[in-house]
Amino acid sequence: MKAVQAMGGGGLEVRDVPVPTPGHGEVLVKVAGAGLCHSDCMISVRPASYRPDGTPFTIGHETAGIVEAVGEGVHKVSTGQPVVVHAEYGCGQCPTCMGGNERSCPVMRPAAGAGLGLDGGMAEYIVAPARAVVALPEQLDPVDAGPLDDAGLTPYHVIRTSAPWLEAGSVTAVIGIGGLGHLAIQILRAVSSTTIVAVEKDPGRRAFALELGADVALDPEDDAAARIKGMGRDGASLVLDLVGADQTLALGAAAAARQGKLVCVGAALGSVPVGMMHVPWECVVQTTYSGEAWELEQLLQLAAAGKVKVSANHISLDDVSEAYERLDKGEHGSGRLIAVP
Ligand SMILES: [Zn+2]
Ligand SMILES: [Zn+2]
Repeated sequence: MKAVQAMGGGGLEVRDVPVPTPGHGEVLVKVAGAGLCHSDCMISVRPASYRPDGTPFTIGHETAGIVEAVGEGVHKVSTGQPVVVHAEYGCGQCPTCMGGNERSCPVMRPAAGAGLGLDGGMAEYIVAPARAVVALPEQLDPVDAGPLDDAGLTPYHVIRTSAPWLEAGSVTAVIGIGGLGHLAIQILRAVSSTTIVAVEKDPGRRAFALELGADVALDPEDDAAARIKGMGRDGASLVLDLVGADQTLALGAAAAARQGKLVCVGAALGSVPVGMMHVPWECVVQTTYSGEAWELEQLLQLAAAGKVKVSANHISLDDVSEAYERLDKGEHGSGRLIAVP
């Protein structure tokens, strides 16, 4: 089968590899679509930090498809079932995994799941543990459902755990309206009455943010931090920085309210100073990482109800390398690129 693999020395190659066989407790999924995430660019540059032995692995951590075969000991998943493969699974047996935090599993490190050191979904088939696949409600098309994991789940986890910052009258700033941003706006709209301020430098993506339910869309260059700080009681009670660069984190810290919360979601590897004179008093500053399969199940319910929809552009596996170059330069249009095998 065809698979897009991160090579040990760095870079991506489309390779011909054997179709994997599901082992005990695993399922084989025929991939319908796999989303392209900007973090794949980082993974392809330094694959050894996910798989130190230097052997190639298939990327893709936003995968959906149809279960084609099940291994021994699998009872809850059957063939023909459309599923989303939750990428960030762990060993499933250590105390962290048993406590419901598989994405923080210390046993599997440095591999962090499908497409993250283990073989991912940018291929014709993927094997995953049965507990990591979540049934897709019948209203949803498996071709476009992959990005609900990661691009959707990551903001969903942050928003779900930030309910105290989303009270009536609150303001939420969403910085960066790419793959995660377009889903973050819809999730915020679906679960809260917060005033949503999209911050995005691309005018087309600003217009898209307003279509998706943002109340205001600002150009970061256009005094965005001061304008947000003037909104609500004291600025943004919640800031989601979906870029995570020095500049966007600085903007977020300046726009955040006292007792607010600034979450670095994006993987641009920037930083922001934390101290009495650098962030508003009692403002929580935190990073975040993905979510759990049970949270993905909740998000799929929102999607099945028509409240969250992936805006997709489809490409072939052969076009993936070139598409990542465009993605890395920010020239990816609106919504998510999805590779269809
Ligand atoms: Zn990602
Ligand atoms: Zn574990």
